[in-house]
Amino acid sequence: MIKINLPDGSSREIEENKTAEDLAGVISEGLRKNAVAAEINGEIKDLSTVLKNNDTVRILTAKDPESLEVLRHSTAHIMAQAVQRLFPNAKIAIGPTIEHGFYYDFDIPDHSLSIDDLPKIEEEMNRIIKENQDFERREIKNVQEVLTDFREKGEIYKTELLMEYAQHNPTLYVCKVDGKEVWNDFCRGPHIPGTKFIKAFKLLSTAGAYWRGDENNKMLQRIYATAFWNKEDLKNYLHMLEEAEKRDHRKLSNRLDLFSIKEEVGPGLVLWHPNLALIREEIENYWRTEHRKRGYVIVNTPHMAKKQLWDISGHTEFYDDNMYYLNVEEDKDYVLKPMNCPFHMLIYKSRRHSYRNLPIRMAELGTVYRKERSGTLHGLSRVRGFTQDDAHIFCTPEQFIPEIHNIIEFVDDTLKLFDMTYEVELSTRPDDFVGELENWNRAEAGLKEALEQKGIEYELNEGDGAFYGPKIDFKLKDAIGRTWQAATIQLDFNLPVRFDLKYTDKDGSLQTPVMLHRVIFGSMERFIGALIEHYAGAFPAWLSPVQAIIVPISDKHLDFADSVYKKLKDENIRVELDDRSESMNYKIREAQNRKIPYMLVIGDKEIEANSVAVRKRGKGQAGVVNIDKFVSGLKKEIDTRGKQEDN
Ligand SMILES: [Zn+2]
Ligand SMILES: [Zn+2]
Repeated sequence: MIKINLPDGSSREIEENKTAEDLAGVISEGLRKNAVAAEINGEIKDLSTVLKNNDTVRILTAKDPESLEVLRHSTAHIMAQAVQRLFPNAKIAIGPTIEHGFYYDFDIPDHSLSIDDLPKIEEEMNRIIKENQDFERREIKNVQEVLTDFREKGEIYKTELLMEYAQHNPTLYVCKVDGKEVWNDFCRGPHIPGTKFIKAFKLLSTAGAYWRGDENNKMLQRIYATAFWNKEDLKNYLHMLEEAEKRDHRKLSNRLDLFSIKEEVGPGLVLWHPNLALIREEIENYWRTEHRKRGYVIVNTPHMAKKQLWDISGHTEFYDDNMYYLNVEEDKDYVLKPMNCPFHMLIYKSRRHSYRNLPIRMAELGTVYRKERSGTLHGLSRVRGFTQDDAHIFCTPEQFIPEIHNIIEFVDDTLKLFDMTYEVELSTRPDDFVGELENWNRAEAGLKEALEQKGIEYELNEGDGAFYGPKIDFKLKDAIGRTWQAATIQLDFNLPVRFDLKYTDKDGSLQTPVMLHRVIFGSMERFIGALIEHYAGAFPAWLSPVQAIIVPISDKHLDFADSVYKKLKDENIRVELDDRSESMNYKIREAQNRKIPYMLVIGDKEIEANSVAVRKRGKGQAGVVNIDKFVSGLKKEIDTRGKQEDN
């Protein structure tokens, strides 16, 4: 007999050579029926894994979130099997899970996959699922034999992978019907026991993808897909996708004329058109006012600096892959700035500091440039040049926890302004790091303490910190529940040492300040991209490029309409007068498409009553309102950034 530890702290005795599935049966018959995988000593494994003495085992069912990945990866195999049945010349490459689904890459010499092939493949998958295939894991004892088999089948990609993995326990997965092998694939697993668990999947799209992501390799054909444990979850997800597609900021940009990325400028470099530049200006105004209010100073620094500066900061050693080098006087003697920190430290250093004038909170809307592979670039969300709303706080060791509290409050207030909620993650020391271990431990403990004092729940990301310090990340949640990377706070004991920063302490001794790096929006590009999708392009009045549009019913109402226009203009309201001789309905429809928050219709009745007929975006007619009352109401809505609305 061997002893197995269970997650509740209890243990079970079972016979030797029993599997996780057997253990599930020992616990309860219901659990055996619903079991799909097992977490053994913290790792997710197949249910068929043979247990060893003193293993800690948690049986996973569809209810455990971790099991979804197992289902998706298993479904990827079924998709690959279906593709090979339909296209016998297809060679299989890799089929990993990704967030919300999975994909599989194929090399099909005689067919180019399109969206029209997907229903056919889904049908074939359903046929396979009906065959009730079992997934069986087989450790490869004789690599040569399997290699020969893959080679004979022309599976060049699997052969390449298998040769690489041959050293460390490669496993083969075979799909079986009634004990007979029907298909196999080489991968690391784990898998669900059989196809009977695959009840809700959908193939979504096709795309080209280079083998191993390298543009020197052959372009393969990729199918993106997803799977869920039940039809309801799949339906909800597909609905969310539809909604996301409607909100895609690149699409909305075309409709609302927001930004462009031009071939002749270069990928990942954004041109902000007047409408989006205006939205950014409003956000920057908020940003500046709030920073002044919260005791920050604002600075400006150049776009490039000598390589020497980045040697001091450690960027040339730890961040080299992300930097663009320039040849100014010599070869690669300058760097296009990837971060603002070194400049802020030099500004700090340009005068003496006493403990009495700390903390110094130094902020900048600083534009940085970072290398990104062209294949990973995406609209405003992933770019090569972007503006960070960056700040560095120089403080004493006693001050950094209250300073972190202040930043958390700042983030919270800011995200509330945009009606966004957020999740928090704490990332700790990566493998590649600068500085003393002791400082890292202090920094990590400090961030934890600040979060705990504020009572904020967070997820721990071991090893995901920056090279100079641990960090807190805020993932903001948009209107349809997707998360976006935004604010971060990094605690840094290292760069101040590298730059030899000092302050005079109470006792007259020279001390090194602690530094916090923080952004609230993160990148203006990514944040505003998220904002476009969050609002689906229907920005609140304070952010709208056009806040109100005046629609006279006919030409005889033009004079009065013009006087209303001037009145709004005088109050700095962004207003347009639609004086074209189009029909009223046509003008209203167009204003709706442009997502203008207020439409003011003017006809005989309105002129008589010195008023406007208000149509509110998304709400329709809001009644006839006296002009002065409308103006003061809209003014208040704009000035309070939407927190007070009485139109
Ligand atoms: Zn697999
Ligand atoms: Zn920084």
